[in-house]
Amino acid sequence: MENIQRSLVLIKPDAVERNLVGKIIDAYEGEKLKITALRMITVDEILAKKHYEEHISKPFFNELLEYITRSPLVAIVLQGENAIEKVRKINGNTNPEMAEYGTIRKKYGIDKTKNSVHASDCEISAEREISIWFPEGVKK
Ligand code: GDP
Ligand code: MG
Repeated sequence: MENIQRSLVLIKPDAVERNLVGKIIDAYEGEKLKITALRMITVDEILAKKHYEEHISKPFFNELLEYITRSPLVAIVLQGENAIEKVRKINGNTNPEMAEYGTIRKKYGIDKTKNSVHASDCEISAEREISIWFPEGVKK
């Protein structure tokens, strides 16, 4: 049975700054994931806090907030078969040092904070995150 899902992806500031947007999008499109929404935005603290609310009490939260707001990022909705798991596999482990060969974070990630990409971790998160980044709604 088909399992069409959506995932909210961020191409984070460290990747946009190093002109990696095209290469990263190519990795997703090459795996039959469809872009259904895309925008470039410099995030303010309010939006960043909303997106990362589950991490508010973590020791790395302030560093994360400062980094994610420092320059533009690209927010994307990807849709396709098993999109949630597929995108997280393409991205690789949170820590670039631990990431599998061939993944985006292995290739481009700098460190635990500056790891180039974000992707939703389940369908509930995906819908929550899509409504944060695309409040006008995204057609399925
Ligand atoms: P993800 O779902 O793989 O992005 O990882 P998490 O949801 O656990 O963390 C969100 C983001 O916070 C990560 O993508 C990193 O940018 C940052 N982060 C997570 N864990 C750490 C950590 O242990 N140290 C630091 N400095 N940053 C972290
Ligand atoms: Mg996460």
